Amino acid sequence: MKNKNNKEKITQNTLYKATMYDAGLEYLKIIKLIPKEKAKSIRKILITNDSFTNKVAGFQRYAKDLKEAEAVFANLIKILNKASKYQGYKNFAEKIAADANIPNNILKNVIKDSKILIDFLNKKVKFKKNIPKEYWTEHYTQCASHSTQTEYKIPEEIYSLLKKYDPDIEKLTKKIKVKEIKGDENPFCRYDKEKDMCKIFCSKGTQALPGVFTFLHELGHAKQHLTSKKEIEISGYEKEKYAHKFSINLAEKIFPKEEYLAYLWFRAKEIIVNGVFEYIIYSKQPNKPSKTYAELQNLFLGKKDQKENYYYLVNKNIIHKNGEYLTSAASFIQASKETYLKQS
Ligand SMILES: [Zn+2]
Repeated sequence: MKNKNNKEKITQNTLYKATMYDAGLEYLKIIKLIPKEKAKSIRKILITNDSFTNKVAGFQRYAKDLKEAEAVFANLIKILNKASKYQGYKNFAEKIAADANIPNNILKNVIKDSKILIDFLNKKVKFKKNIPKEYWTEHYTQCASHSTQTEYKIPEEIYSLLKKYDPDIEKLTKKIKVKEIKGDENPFCRYDKEKDMCKIFCSKGTQALPGVFTFLHELGHAKQHLTSKKEIEISGYEKEKYAHKFSINLAEKIFPKEEYLAYLWFRAKEIIVNGVFEYIIYSKQPNKPSKTYAELQNLFLGKKDQKENYYYLVNKNIIHKNGEYLTSAASFIQASKETYLKQS
């Protein structure tokens, strides 16, 4: 009996590896259709402030490649789901959740809770009135009336602002080095256990709110590394939740209210749209992910304008770092619920 189980395990493992090989081939097809430089050009068309006509014209040049890449991506989702079944999960979303230790009830309620948070944020933030049509296209985002103009010096100015709220910050910052990030790498915090020191990799110098928010998030990671009991292993979900809570709480204290809310809305939109997108595609396996992506944008914008949105295909984190957004969204939603809605 024991022998049979073992044999089955080996078979499952072989099938898993073979399936992941197939997944690798699909990845390569996507990269061939939309290489890094091309993705950059497409992103530029979709997010810059240009006329609607110009955007449509720019988009049309890449429409064929994007649609082809979407079909490959839909197949990739199926393959990843199949592979995760060989590892004993119902689908790839469940595997992501297991790897990051996202609690079951939080994963199950991620769509419902995201709607509660979106509704809360949409009521809090004032938006620009009389927005011309181009701002409502399938490739554009709604604008908060308050744009983020104030600049802060990272890390010096942020440390001195934090002193008032976190008296221990000085002891902490002695153990933190802030390093400028290279290229389009994601910001991160690295902890050196031997030296009990942290290195934060992010934008330095004078930055407006988006850069500051990112720095605060990484500072949250650093604080947790430097103050928690080292022998306890903290899960990916718990780490993210701590950093989100730390950053949204401190940012609320140090930034002008309107500016803070406008940027919080923008940040929430990025994290939630992409994270819930990952949850839906891996648990419901749609044939047209661009439709799912558009529907999530619509939810945030309170409009039904978007029919399809291919922006996800030029987001390197969605294509190459499966599950990061879902982990971030699940923890961000929970951190926000506890902070703003006083519910756990
Ligand atoms: Zn983080």
